[in-house]
Amino acid sequence: MKRYGFKGVRIGFTVAMVIILVMGVIGCSGGGNKNEAPNAPEAATEGLFTPGTYVGEAEGLHSTIKVEVTVDANTIQSVKVLEQQDTEGVSDAVFETIPQKVVEGQSLKVDVVSGASVSSNGLIDAIADALSKAGADVEALRNKEPLAAAAKEAITKETDVVVVGGGGAGLAAAVSAAENGAKVILIEKSPSLGGNTIRSGGEFNSYDPVRQPNIEMTKALVDELNEILKYNETEFGDYAETLKTLKTQIKEYLSNGDTTKLFDSPELHAIHTYIGGKRTDLDGKEISGKFELVNTLTQNSYGTIEWLESHGAEFQDGIGTVLGALWPRTHHNAEPLGTGYINTMKKSATDLGAEIMMNTKATKLIVENGKIVGVTAEQADGTPVTLKASKGVVMATGGFGANSEMVVKYNNYWPDMNENIKTTNTSNATGDGIIMGEEVGASLWGMGFIQLMPSGQPGTGALSGGVWGSAETQIFVNKEGKRYVNEYAERDVLAAAALEQTDETFFIISDMTSLGNPDLNGKSVWGDNYQDLIKNKNIFMADTLEDLAKQMGVPADTFIAEMEKYNTYVEKQLDPEFGKKNFGAKLETAPFFATPRTPSVHHTMGGLEINEKAQVLDTAGKPIEGLFAAGEVAGGLHAGNRLGGNAITDIFTFGRIAGASAAGK
Ligand code: ADP
Repeated sequence: MKRYGFKGVRIGFTVAMVIILVMGVIGCSGGGNKNEAPNAPEAATEGLFTPGTYVGEAEGLHSTIKVEVTVDANTIQSVKVLEQQDTEGVSDAVFETIPQKVVEGQSLKVDVVSGASVSSNGLIDAIADALSKAGADVEALRNKEPLAAAAKEAITKETDVVVVGGGGAGLAAAVSAAENGAKVILIEKSPSLGGNTIRSGGEFNSYDPVRQPNIEMTKALVDELNEILKYNETEFGDYAETLKTLKTQIKEYLSNGDTTKLFDSPELHAIHTYIGGKRTDLDGKEISGKFELVNTLTQNSYGTIEWLESHGAEFQDGIGTVLGALWPRTHHNAEPLGTGYINTMKKSATDLGAEIMMNTKATKLIVENGKIVGVTAEQADGTPVTLKASKGVVMATGGFGANSEMVVKYNNYWPDMNENIKTTNTSNATGDGIIMGEEVGASLWGMGFIQLMPSGQPGTGALSGGVWGSAETQIFVNKEGKRYVNEYAERDVLAAAALEQTDETFFIISDMTSLGNPDLNGKSVWGDNYQDLIKNKNIFMADTLEDLAKQMGVPADTFIAEMEKYNTYVEKQLDPEFGKKNFGAKLETAPFFATPRTPSVHHTMGGLEINEKAQVLDTAGKPIEGLFAAGEVAGGLHAGNRLGGNAITDIFTFGRIAGASAAGK
């Protein structure tokens, strides 16, 4: 299966395998005495269950989940997952933790795993199905308070470097610190590694001397280079020298007679990042990315790709433009979503001797004589943890997109942001690291700027549940069937335009070519079955534009005329209406697809201010000794609007730097 219609794509979604997990845990409660289980369901006088082993089934995200449950008269003794085909990596924690919790708690009242609620509920329903066959009062078990796990003795450990957060930035920091000779402990508050990183599309922006020469340079992109030659250095502040170097590169490229191969450079990436991030808040204050951070990002991005590859990560050969990236420099991991990065980094961290503590939430930084020397934390069962770090602490707790109170409190960009707005984030993105950093005097930078992903799923805000290709191939139409925006623009521009449309909703239109000729009986890039998407009306599919318009509920005449007009823009490589800056092929290959979308909170650009060594700065601009930060928790790089595809580059580039800095390199 191909993604984004890029050339030379190697691997598609590989998770359709049947996993057999054995989660047998002997029930530690009940023990035949009903009185020991508070709120125990009423049942037959002999006990709660008819002893035996029962198989139960329910629908998961992608297929049926099958479990085997063994009970004696009063105890759920074990839960085994026999079959499931849900998203590998993202759903792993569901199948690892829920059976255990059901047995430990002797209850079906179990929290769903953040970001994997469909799989969680499917598994709980399958266990309920088995228990109902055992004669249980399932309703009562669903309402029963789980038996509390007892807190264990306090844990105290000493190490060189503590990393807080097990997403992309934290794992990269752990690997890098260990590579640089440090003893490392990484703590993660949830039951699974990966954070938002594993649920993202995994898009990674970088110039690329190996892959980009295989990509065609469109006329529209040559036109953009000619426009850049007209930019005035005096308007580019700290970036003036970068612009000057870029102009020299462009002149050389245009004069060497071959403009068929894609042009790119770290300087062009830096100028795009600067332009995309320079914004003004609601108070009229302007912000742009700190030069030393942007420069560090774009000069090191390809080195980060090579570093990830040296740890076993694989990238597809194709290059595209993720929404809001502004140039075709977006790489995709060979594995689905962010799973390839997380699995690779997890393996390397473990191989290098880093200790990973799950279900362990950092609560406070420990300060001694103005220096950060560790963290206090708490495990899910209440066990207190103290971790002493002789060399430093790396904060990598991600953003605060799932903390609607913080979103509303800090937002200073969107005029009408309220607490009901949905998010693409996992519920763990609650800004913990920002709060802990602020408590020890860290400077918070750019907190008012919050990225709305223009293309969230209506109702859930999720990234998944739809289909589209690279940004140059996407067409957006509103409920009136009309195009309304340059689809190649930045995400804040696209989100603002979407919010102006009827019901704040629009459709992304694709055809078979722009989707890369996928197998319609297979899975989308996001892991959804095409046929499920169609059946559930998450997307519409039709052989004609007329039929597509009917399904979308838009006026067919207007819609067809818009599509025909757009295709003439592709031919001319010029969009006189909205100024689209790059084009893929014409959209004319049936079947056609439409995905309804609406903006949702995606990335919080502000955070702990860092310098190019990933040291956290205090409000006087001085590094706080022993404190480092990387990834979404950090501020200073993306400024007012992050380019699509720059977050993954950021977390691995600065995660690696933070780990090395903390290790004393
Ligand atoms: P990034 O992209 O910056 O790496 P992610 O969202 O991918 O951010 O990962 C951040 C990780 O940090 C998540 O797995 C989240 O559960 C974890 N986390 C957040 N707060 C804490 C905390 N207080 N203690 C430990 N882990 C935390």
